[in-house]
Amino acid sequence: MSEPGGNATFGDSIEIRTEGLGPAGKDGVREAPRARTRQVKVGNVAIGGGAPVAVQSMTTTMTWDVEATLEQIRRLDEAGCEIVRVAVPDEKSADALPELVKRSPLPVVADIHFTWKLGLKAIAAGVHKVRINPGNIGGESRVREIVAAAKDRGIPIRVGANAGSLPKEIIAKYGVHDPLGIVEAALIPIGILEKEGFEDIVVSMKASDVSLAVASYRLASKRIPYPLHIGITEAGSARRGSIKSAVGLGMLLEEGIGDTMRVSLTADPVEEIETAFMILSAVGLRQRGPEVISCPSCGRCDIDLIGLATTVEERVKALGTKIPLKVAVMGCEVNGPGEARDADVGIAGGLHEGLIFKHGQILRKVKEGVVVDELMKEVEQVLRDRQAEERS
Ligand code: SF4
Repeated sequence: MSEPGGNATFGDSIEIRTEGLGPAGKDGVREAPRARTRQVKVGNVAIGGGAPVAVQSMTTTMTWDVEATLEQIRRLDEAGCEIVRVAVPDEKSADALPELVKRSPLPVVADIHFTWKLGLKAIAAGVHKVRINPGNIGGESRVREIVAAAKDRGIPIRVGANAGSLPKEIIAKYGVHDPLGIVEAALIPIGILEKEGFEDIVVSMKASDVSLAVASYRLASKRIPYPLHIGITEAGSARRGSIKSAVGLGMLLEEGIGDTMRVSLTADPVEEIETAFMILSAVGLRQRGPEVISCPSCGRCDIDLIGLATTVEERVKALGTKIPLKVAVMGCEVNGPGEARDADVGIAGGLHEGLIFKHGQILRKVKEGVVVDELMKEVEQVLRDRQAEERS
């Protein structure tokens, strides 16, 4: 690998971390292979050191509007969010933090820029982590005050680098599009915190360019012992942002990189959580609740498969369960049950009828009008069996 000062390319002979990436276990979920990073605690949520990748989001409400912010946090919690970040741009927002922290069902992270006093206020309010940029907080003495306060309360600090706001000296040395520059920029605030003997650090490496972000995180995972907060910044609207995040974060997670993740979308933050779990489920790291799979349909399909899959998605989501389960919606009786053999339960459409199957085995044939109801009976039975298994 090139050393700082060299010209790194994105494929800069970075070794891919593969330990622990064994086959999926029960429910298609692997043991998280993340023992390399130091572990920090954000409230009751562990980040790094082999803990499951923690899913987080950020509220879009005015933080000073306590009721609206708590309402959004509750929706995020229901969707599976584990850590929530709130912007603290002014005194009014900082004043709302004690109440927010007290009533939030999730650990709260305060996002602080420019004003160190707001950072101190947030820490005093009991937030569970602060995110700061030591470069814009007003000098080392101010940073030292924040570090001392965080140390006192035993909370971690997130620092990092953003490709869009690199320090001048880094740009002069590396330009704006070099993972070496981004990692070196992240090492600056890390060094400031370490100088104070502070090691409860989480590090992010933000870039909206997927390749640049991935290369930077790969490099960081080899050089930085602290847990990594991964994300593709300014990813875009729900669809484009989900795709960019899935590509970038999927690559990193598959290589064992990333201890907490945020999918950034210009959308309702609840969608960020749903997308994050879809990504984690796709790489076999975590699954939350049922997953509906469906075939693309083809000339063998005699039913409205898009309508059927949409209805099943909605009915399964409405169950509100966190129990992992795979439900298949397949277009034909000939290939459907076989193609979806690994699903717990499924339906395969035929002409005016459908098959209900379980692990590829056909249970019965039912009329088209009741096919979804019959499927849901089986889904509920599997959930009852899983619950009984968990209790025993
Ligand atoms: Fe086509 Fe049947 Fe396969 Fe669906 S399950 S893609 S309808 S062959």
